[in-house]
Amino acid sequence: MAQKNNKNLNCVEGPLYVDNTCIDCWTCLHIGKDIFKLDSNSLSFVARQPQTDEDWVQAKEAILSCPVNCIGVINDVRFNQALLSLPRMITDNIFYCGYTSRDSYGGTSYFLKTSQGNILIDSPKFNAQLVQKLKDLGGVDYMFLSHKDDVADHQKFAEFFHCKRIIHRLEVEEFTCECEIILEEEKDIEFFSDVQIIFTPGHSKGHLSLLYKNKYLFTGDHLFYSHDEDKIFASQNLSWHSWEQQKKSIAKLLAFDLEWIFPGHGGWCNKTSLQIKRELSKILV
Ligand code: SF4
Repeated sequence: MAQKNNKNLNCVEGPLYVDNTCIDCWTCLHIGKDIFKLDSNSLSFVARQPQTDEDWVQAKEAILSCPVNCIGVINDVRFNQALLSLPRMITDNIFYCGYTSRDSYGGTSYFLKTSQGNILIDSPKFNAQLVQKLKDLGGVDYMFLSHKDDVADHQKFAEFFHCKRIIHRLEVEEFTCECEIILEEEKDIEFFSDVQIIFTPGHSKGHLSLLYKNKYLFTGDHLFYSHDEDKIFASQNLSWHSWEQQKKSIAKLLAFDLEWIFPGHGGWCNKTSLQIKRELSKILV
C-alpha cells in the first residue's frame, strides 16, 4: 500500500499521490501521460491532479498496475466511481493488460486475440480480476516470453489456462525450464500465418520479439518508446548481453513495414513505417 506520509514532495496538492518507493518502471507515465511525470531522481510524482472521469479511470488503472503499489489516493468519490477498463483494447484485438508485476520490474504485457489462438505477451500479475477478463476474452492459448526478466507469474497463468509458454533456449533458467515450447534455433520463425517470432538478441542473449500482421511489433526490452520525446529508442546501458548484437537485431527490423511498436516498458506508439524506419536508423548511427 502507498504511504502518504512517505509521499514524493514533488506531487501537486490533491487526493492522488505517489510515495518514494517508486522503481521507475514507467507504467504510470504511460497510463496517465499528463498526470504522472518523473522527477530529477527518476521517481514518479503527480504533476497534475485528475479532473475528468477519464483522468480518474487513468488514475485507477495506474494504481492497480503499479508493480510496487506506491500510488495512492486519499478517499475520493470520483476514484471509487471510476470504471476500470483493463485489459483495454488498443487496436485490432491487441489489448493492454496493466497489472504489471514487480517480478518483471513493471514490464508491460499485452493480450493478442487471433483466429489461430490467443497470446499473452510477457507476464502481468496473476490477478483474479485480470484472469477473469482474459477468460471472458476467450482465454490464453499461448504465452510469449520475450526474455527471462519479464516472466513473473508465467507458471500460474500456465496452470490456470493450460497455455503453452514460448521462450528461447538461451533465456531458460530453472524457473522457466518447464516451458512447453523452447525455441532452439537462432533465427526467425513463422508461428501462425500472421504471427512471426523474430530473434532479436542484444538486451539478452536469446531475446525474442513478436511480429503480428507484419506491422505490429511486440519488442520486450529490445526497444522502448518515450512519450515526452515521441521517440523510439534502445538503451545501451540496459543491453546486458551485447550492444553490437542489439544494433544488428535493430537493423534487421528495417526489412519490415512496422506501424506499431509495443515495448515491454512504458508506452506504445503508432507511426508510419517510414517514420519508424527513420527512428530505428538513428539508433544505429
Ligand atoms: S507505476 Fe512504476 S513508475 Fe509509476 S509509480 Fe509505480 S513504480 Fe513508479
